[in-house]
Order: sequence, then C-alpha cells, then structure tokens
Amino acid sequence: MSFRLIPGSQLSPEYPSIPEKDKEIVVDSVASVDLEKLVSLCKRRGFIFQSSEIYGGLSSTWDYGPLGAELKRNIKDSWWRKFVWERDDVVGLDSSILMHPDVWRASGHVDSFTDPLVECKECHQRWREDQLEERVCPACGGELTEARNFNLMFKTFIGPVENDASVAYLRPETAQGIFVNFENVLNSTRKKLPFGIAQIGKAFRNEITTGNFIFRTREFEIMELEFFVAPGQDEDWHKRWVEDCLGWYTGLGVSKERLRVRAHDTAELAHYAKATHDIEYSFPWGWGEIQGIANRADFDLKAHAEASGTSLDYYDDQTKERFTPYVIEPSAGVDRALMTFLVDAYTEEEAPTASGKVESRVLLKLHPEIAPVKVAILPLSRNEKLVPLAREVYDRVRGSGAAKGYVQYDDAQSIGRRYRRQDEIGTPLCVTVDFDSLDDKAVTIRDRDTMEQVRVAIDDLPSELGARLHV
Ligand SMILES: [Zn+2]
Repeated sequence: MSFRLIPGSQLSPEYPSIPEKDKEIVVDSVASVDLEKLVSLCKRRGFIFQSSEIYGGLSSTWDYGPLGAELKRNIKDSWWRKFVWERDDVVGLDSSILMHPDVWRASGHVDSFTDPLVECKECHQRWREDQLEERVCPACGGELTEARNFNLMFKTFIGPVENDASVAYLRPETAQGIFVNFENVLNSTRKKLPFGIAQIGKAFRNEITTGNFIFRTREFEIMELEFFVAPGQDEDWHKRWVEDCLGWYTGLGVSKERLRVRAHDTAELAHYAKATHDIEYSFPWGWGEIQGIANRADFDLKAHAEASGTSLDYYDDQTKERFTPYVIEPSAGVDRALMTFLVDAYTEEEAPTASGKVESRVLLKLHPEIAPVKVAILPLSRNEKLVPLAREVYDRVRGSGAAKGYVQYDDAQSIGRRYRRQDEIGTPLCVTVDFDSLDDKAVTIRDRDTMEQVRVAIDDLPSELGARLHV
C-alpha cells in the first residue's frame, strides 16, 4: 500500500523523500459523528465511564466498562498478533512502571520533557503560554506570571521519606524500559539485527491541556515497539514500518480516506528523532495524531550506555563490526486507537423494520476481530419451551471456541430492540432461536451490516459462525 503525504508537509532535509507517485492530494473525509452522541453511547452501553463519577468525576480520566474492556483487550491482542506473533523478528517485554530515576535523566526527560507554563496570580490556574490568545488568565482575567518550565512527569517517592533521594517518576512512555533491557533481551534470546522488542503498558503524563474524550488524557496505555537496525538500514525500515502500521488500521476496517501520513518538519522534531512520520485520522474536530513512527537513530542506546557505563553496542559476527544500533519506533496509543475505531465505526442509517416501516438505526461497524461481543444468542422470547434450547445453543457456541471471544446471551425486551441494541454495540452476528428451532433443530444467523438472515442447522453453527467471523 502506498502512503500519502499531506500537501505542504516537509521532510527533514537528510531524509529521502516519498516517491512522487505517492504524493496524492488528500481528499479530506471527516468523520461526521457527533462526539456528544458517541460519549453518550459509550456510557449508556458500558464502553467508557467517567472516572470516580459518584464523587463528581476526575477530569480527563476514564474507566473502561464491560464492553470497553473487551474492545480494548481485542485491540491490544490484534496488535500483538500482527506485530509479535505473525513476525519472526519481534519479541515481547513487560517492564515495570517505576524505574531508576537516572533512566529519565539519561533519556532527557528530566531536562527536556517540559511545557512553558504561566500561572494566574489571582486564581493560580496554570496555562500553556503558547496556547494563550491574550496575556491574561482565560478563567478570571487575572494577571499572569512569567513562563516557567513545568515537567510533564508525575513525581512520586519510594519509601517513607519524601526527599530528593527517594524521588521516582511514573513512566511517561514505556520505551525506556525496552532500551535499558536491550542487553538482557539480546543475551537471552540470541536475536540478530534487525529485530524489535514490543510491550504494552500504562504511561502517565501530567498534560496541562487534555480533552476530546479519551484522545488526550494523563493516564494512557501504549503499544510500544522499538525496532533495532544497523545504521544505514534505518531509513528503509522507517518507511516499511509506516506502511505496516497503516496496514494494521486499514486491515481492521478504518477508512483509508480518513487516514494520512504527515512528516514532522525540522522544528517540530523531538530532541531524539532523526525523522518522525505521524499517522493521522480525520476526527470530527480535525486531523489528530493516532501514531508516530520515529527514527530515533542511536540516541537512546548511546545515552544509556554513557550514563550507565554499560556498553549497549552490538557485534555483528558476519561483518565483524561493532556499533550502536539505530532504532525505529512505531509506537501507538491504545486509547487513541480505540477512539479511532469507535469514531470510524459509528454509523447512522435508515433501515426497514419487520413491520415494513423505515427507522433510523445506529450501528458500530467494528471489525469482527475487535468487536467486544462476537456473537449474541437471542431466544425469540422468554417462553419456557424456548429457553432450554436457547441456553443449549449458547453453551455450545461458547464451548466450541468458534467465536474466539465474548458471546452474550440476551433475552431482555423485544427481538427488534435487541437487534438494535446489538447493532449499537457492534456485535457482528446475532443467532436467533425461535419456535421452529424446536422442530427443525436450526437457528437464524443475522448479519449486523447487511441485516441478512440465514437459517443454519444447530450442529453446523460453530463452523458457520467461525467462517463468518474470521474470513
Ligand atoms: Zn485566573
């Protein structure tokens, strides 16, 4: 697949340009979902709740409900499957959140991971100076202090004494856990370059500006990957990773016309990066970064080697050369990916009802691989003759493993309302057990997107479901 650069974006001068044929002019297709509607659906159906809601909530902090937890797990599993299991050049890691404070000095986070902030002398709220339109407090109009650098890392203390010697930080990224384990992974796995280390975990940033639901929060989860290559091979691998990452989103059904790749210009590049390409999605509020793919060169391993006094070089026994590997970092936010999948899947359409009327329906066209409920088993009613067979079908589907995920039994309300409810939470397939099922030992499979219904024998149900879910 080719990827597109937005018109006007720049590549850093030393970085090879994207082939001319790939520089299509992007026709922006904006996701049209009303964010309020999506937030309301997420709460009503149990995807995402405000954190600590009964205490008035904690701002920009969210909890994943029963369906959100399934969706999030499926997204992480899909990423791990594609980027670890289906490759032979990536291994996994699960490093701790707390690390030696020197890690963050060597990485540059203690000195450079800052925002310039001004404080209101009246109400003491802090603001990002670069985002203020006027030099007065946006909340109360009060006078502002001079800007001061504010570190984005959450600080805490290890042990009972709160002093400088006991300072620790909640990690603002999981990458450093990978870099400081480079030697351990190399020695224990005998991997040869090029190879990568992946991990999924929480990270924390004391962001001043949060918002757009789960898009920008202070606590979030990262699917991090550091891919180590020999210097000179970094630029090719950078491009390959941009394409592989784009392929993950489009493979899970994200609209191609709402995705674009944007190269950071030189002024925008982070202190460690030789080049960075962002994958952006066209959200209702505009283009937003969902993943950055950075060429970090040898910045990280060199910094940790120097600060720790431990060599993090690689010896290539073919070329007999010793060098510090370069790193390509195609890391993605779990919460942003989840937001992207939700926004992209949200659909409102007119649909005929059983009685022939036309009704609007809301559906989440989530890819079956990530849908929180894979299959819903629906008895036509709670009639006592139907229930034993419906429970038996439910047990068989769950026991067979054909759904490879969460199977729900749903018998509340009318069958029409249950279909709408399953559409709204993105369930790809519903299985209806009706009175004919008692005689013909068959059930109806209903497809979420087409609303087509097919009759299949109960004995064939697991294989029929498997074929429809995992094509
Ligand atoms: Zn103020």
